[in-house]
Amino acid sequence: MDTPTDTPTDAPTETIIGIDLGTTNSAVAYMKDGESVIVPNMEGDALTPSVVAFAEDDRRWVGRIAKTQAVANPRRTIFSIKRRMGSTRTAREELLDVVSSIKRRMGTENVVTVGNRTYTPVEISAMILEKLKADTEAYLGKTIKRAVITVPAYFNDSQRRATREAGAVAGLEVVRLVNEPTAASLAYGLDIEKVHSILVWDLGGGTFDVSVLELGDGVFEVKAVNGNTKLGGDDYDQRLVEMLIERFRDEWDVDLNQDATAKRMTRQLAEQAKMRLTDDAETRVVLPAYLSEGRRCALTVTRDAFEQITADITERMVAPAECALSDAGIDPIALDRVVLVGGMTRVPAVRALVKRITGIDPYGHIDPDKVVALGAAIQAGVLAGQVHNVTLVDVTPLSLGIETKGELFTRIIHRNTPIPTTKSKLFTNAEDDQTVVEIHVLQGERELAPDNVTLDKFYLHDVEPQPRGEARLEVWFDIDANGMVHVSAVDLQQDTVKRIRIEAACQPPADVVERMLAQSQEKMESDQRKRQEIEAGIRGENLILATEKLVGDMGETPDEKVRQAAEAAEHGTAQVRDAMADGRLERITSANETLEAQVKKLDLAIKAAAAPIMAQEPVA
Ligand code: ADP
Ligand code: MG
Repeated sequence: MDTPTDTPTDAPTETIIGIDLGTTNSAVAYMKDGESVIVPNMEGDALTPSVVAFAEDDRRWVGRIAKTQAVANPRRTIFSIKRRMGSTRTAREELLDVVSSIKRRMGTENVVTVGNRTYTPVEISAMILEKLKADTEAYLGKTIKRAVITVPAYFNDSQRRATREAGAVAGLEVVRLVNEPTAASLAYGLDIEKVHSILVWDLGGGTFDVSVLELGDGVFEVKAVNGNTKLGGDDYDQRLVEMLIERFRDEWDVDLNQDATAKRMTRQLAEQAKMRLTDDAETRVVLPAYLSEGRRCALTVTRDAFEQITADITERMVAPAECALSDAGIDPIALDRVVLVGGMTRVPAVRALVKRITGIDPYGHIDPDKVVALGAAIQAGVLAGQVHNVTLVDVTPLSLGIETKGELFTRIIHRNTPIPTTKSKLFTNAEDDQTVVEIHVLQGERELAPDNVTLDKFYLHDVEPQPRGEARLEVWFDIDANGMVHVSAVDLQQDTVKRIRIEAACQPPADVVERMLAQSQEKMESDQRKRQEIEAGIRGENLILATEKLVGDMGETPDEKVRQAAEAAEHGTAQVRDAMADGRLERITSANETLEAQVKKLDLAIKAAAAPIMAQEPVA
């Protein structure tokens, strides 16, 4: 794994830049005289569309030119590459699905094909970063080597790695990856003195992130994160596209679906109309000559209509937002501030929804599509030693732990624990003389291991043979500042400490988190009951083993009391076995209790028979 380079630069003139590598737009900022400012690109714009286009002759364009030429060159223009960065599946899922993963590696899933060439998402992202780097170098008049890049809060390990890799390909050392909402709050946070709870609502072109943060004394703590990696402005545009296609067909007999160019043009018309509807209650959409065969085809779209056809998309933000608030344990009324991030938060319906849920007029004096880059630059300033008294604390969105006997999920790090963090728990052997122990590392909120997501599985070999329950195995979980999980296991009985490490991300894709949280809520009762049943079963087994050991060690005994107690206990084990076969929790629990009392009685009887003098005349 690659570790972050946190060491501040010793060359005082080196500038570490902050980059918001967005799905739709990217932006660069840096610290100038103690303030974070945007670096305009060669075109003089603050935002660079995250679009790459290729000419027939291998020339390529990045940014605004690539976006505007898209209508004429739709098949060789690449949009929203960020949605394809890394794999959204866990390493385990890939392993289980070897065939399709080989296919993926051979390039059928994530790569994009332009003409007879294919490009990986990392390569395309690197082209965007290269332009950002070159434009910044031209503007600042110096070489840029290092950068802080922001990623959606839910980017998993593979997606984070891909982002770092893109930086490397572009000649940038990525000194830190920062979650976008965290960066945004950094941009807003510097002028805040007292503790504040803040909700960051980020709706961009392709992703929705909502985070609850607490700020105080220069410390930013992310209390909870939630969202959806497949929800954004693109979805709104798509609805308008569908509406335009239908209405232009019905009202003007024009087919906007006729070819790729027409489709791309319609998309641009839709996005522009959407933006105008942010300020105006209605807008005219006029077809360019290419689409209208010289006629003047136009129609009016109202904001009301736009809101109606996109209402369900807007509503999809409610659940993640409420979930984040309840996870953070914060009543919306207790929120001090709501920060808007992402170009889409300019849309009135989105603002109204934020207000409806939080009861607060959202805060947006920093441009919502620049605020992430501005925050990234502040984090870069911290790492470069230019900004002091600011620390970032993130949280892990799902619990992490291991599988224990009976397919139970035992949590070691609970969800919403601030990271970086290190936690350990002591475990023991489930069988006599076990020399190999499987460590099944899981992530999720369900009580049973198979219902959670496997991050990895590894084995601790050469464990000192011990009777069941006597080995002492310590399992360590450690999440670093980049959200990477390391797991080690140690057999404490041995002189030499054995340590095995796995690495995975603590940030699964948003849909996994969503599904997991929804299921854990829905199944909470039945899960709890299942867990109690399994735990009662394990307790019953332990009691039976203890009874058998006592009776076995006892040998032939002439003592009547001991014999009676032993018979009772043996009857008790049979009762527990029956109850376990029956499976009903109440029955197992009550049989366990009876057997437990019988075992105690037997133990006392044996002791009394073995040491009659002690029992009758205790030493004063
Ligand atoms: P990302 O984080 O995905 O790169 P941005 O924060 O740049 O995205 O937001 C891009 C989205 O915001 C696009 O869908 C764009 O159409 C939308 N957007 C930008 N400005 C406006 C506006 N004034 N009104 C409505 N939508 C806007
Ligand atoms: Mg963004």
